[in-house]
This record gives sequence, structure tokens and C-alpha cells, in this order.
Amino acid sequence: MTQPDHDDGGDLLEVSALRRYFDGRRAWLGRPRRIHAVENVSFNLRIGETLGLVGESGCGKSTTGRMIVGLDRPTAGAIRFKGQDLVSLSAAQWRAKRAEVQIVFQNPLSSLDPRLPIGRQIREPLDLHDIGAPGERDAEVAELMRAVSLPAALADRYPHQISGGQAQRVVIARALALKPSLIVCDEPVSALDVSVQATVIALLEHLQQEYGIAYLFISHDLRVVRRLSHRVAVMYLGQIVEEGWTDDVYEQPLHPYTRALLSAIPDVSKGPGQGAGQRVVLKGEPPSPAHPPSGCHFHTRCPYVLRRCLGEAPQLRVIDGIHAVRCHYAEQIKELR
Ligand code: SF4
Repeated sequence: MTQPDHDDGGDLLEVSALRRYFDGRRAWLGRPRRIHAVENVSFNLRIGETLGLVGESGCGKSTTGRMIVGLDRPTAGAIRFKGQDLVSLSAAQWRAKRAEVQIVFQNPLSSLDPRLPIGRQIREPLDLHDIGAPGERDAEVAELMRAVSLPAALADRYPHQISGGQAQRVVIARALALKPSLIVCDEPVSALDVSVQATVIALLEHLQQEYGIAYLFISHDLRVVRRLSHRVAVMYLGQIVEEGWTDDVYEQPLHPYTRALLSAIPDVSKGPGQGAGQRVVLKGEPPSPAHPPSGCHFHTRCPYVLRRCLGEAPQLRVIDGIHAVRCHYAEQIKELR
């Protein structure tokens, strides 16, 4: 994807040293185990830009998205939106902020009220936030349905009377109603058929071009992320392990975990000996975030692990341009193709 011109807009969102810990089940006669769901995550997002946040289930990407839209509170760290601190907002202040920061979830039907026609549901945020004259809101609903390519005749249908792809368009139209600057998209196409996924992705691209919306695009699907994202951040066990321009990360992944994810996908990996390199097979399952491994959290699965990795935690460090990686041996691994 083409890199956006970063000179024409400042940071819309700045996330700094974000942490979210949960108290898990109490160990026998001990204190509750602390689950490190998000561990020292930092990134920024510019106006009209898409940052893809990828990783396996349970890596902390959805928890990060929920904190950004105020559905969960950080244990520590800062979230600034247009320069304003979001972490300290009260519930009432969040209701006002909701117009600018929206979220779209994976399952559109769980986001919709089964008892209300979809036109009413798209109109709901306009009524709640008292936007526009009441008599003009139905015209605005028609315009929003046009923007997401939903036939006006569907306005009186109920969620169970439309397809999954149409339901996700309803959710997107409702998110657009308040003209947000940022939409957190949490696996927005994962529940849809592949052919429907493509139309919803094309819609998100079109809406970004038309309205300049920024997306934090959370997904485990690397093909979808590549299509939509200007930059990408890869998460593992609550931490960002690699970040950079999408083309750089996909064509020259530096972290063994990113290499493994990409090499498992035939149409993004260029195959053995080319591009992303040979298939990297990971050992075992991701460890529990209640028991993150010492040193590098990835050391229990890394094919390149050395003694240093067991005791010393690598920092996220810039290797080239904005391409950053959390690995002691990224330069050496880069040469192994
Ligand atoms: Fe693998 Fe060591 Fe790099 Fe961690 S620091 S990714 S264990 S080589």
C-alpha cells in the first residue's frame, strides 16, 4: 500500500507505554496470578492513516483497541487523541468523545439490536448526540446508506433479514454517522465469507479516501492487513515485536515471529529461498500471559534462541528508517535467507 504523505497532518493518536494487567485465578495459597495482557505498547497514528495490528489470538491486540475507545481502562500508560488525554476522561466525557472515536467489531449481528429496523439503528447516534435537525436525519440516514452501498429499500428490514456483509455495512454506516476521525476495526471481516470480505475492505478503503478517517485495523489475517495498512505492528504476548511500513515488514521481516507468520501464508511469502524466506516453523503454543517467559518472551518458540535471549529482554529498536524490531539478533537473522 502506498505510504501516506506524513507532512500534511500531525499525530491523531499517540499511545505511550500502555499496560493492561488482569488479576487471574489465585494460585494455591498464593496471590492471584497477574496476567500481562498488554505490556508497554507504544505507537502513533496519523490523520487518514491505517495501522495494522496483527498477532495470534490472545496477544493483546483487542485489549489495546478496547482501551483506545474507552471500553477498558489501562493499568498504566497514556492515550492521547488530538493532544487530549483519553485515560482520564469520565464516562460523561467519553460519551461526548464517542463521536470522534468509533469501533467496529467482528460479529455485526452482535452489534445490532434484533428488534429495530436497520434504518432506525443508523439514525440512533444522530438522535443520541442531537446532530442535525430531527426532520433532516432520515435524509442523513439515506446518505449514510448510500455511502456504504446499501440499497435504501433495506432501511425497514431487521438485522435477521439481511446478509452478514450487509449487516457489517450497517455497523459501518452507524459508526460513520458521527463523522469520526478514528475507527478501531477489531477483526471487522473475520466473520464474513471471503468474497464479502473483499467488498467490505474496498468499502473501508473508499471511506478513508473520501472522509480521511484513520483506522487501527486489528486482525490475525495478514493478507487483509497488507491490503489495507500503511504501517503494521506485530504483537506477541502483549508486546509489539516488530513495526514498520507494511511493504518493508512483509518483504523483509526482521523478527523470527513475523517471519514465521508470513512464511505460513503462501501468497504473501514468496516461497523458500525468496522474499520472506524459508518456512519458519514455530515450536509449541504461545505461553500464557500469566507466565511470560524470562528474557525475550519469544525464546520458548524461537528457532534462533541463544543463551542471552533467556536472561535479557530485548528492547524494540529501530533498524532501518522506521522499521523497528524487538530481537537481540535481528541483523544476523536478516542475513539468513
Ligand atoms: Fe529469538 Fe533471541 Fe531474537 Fe528473542 S531475542 S526473537 S529468542 S533470537
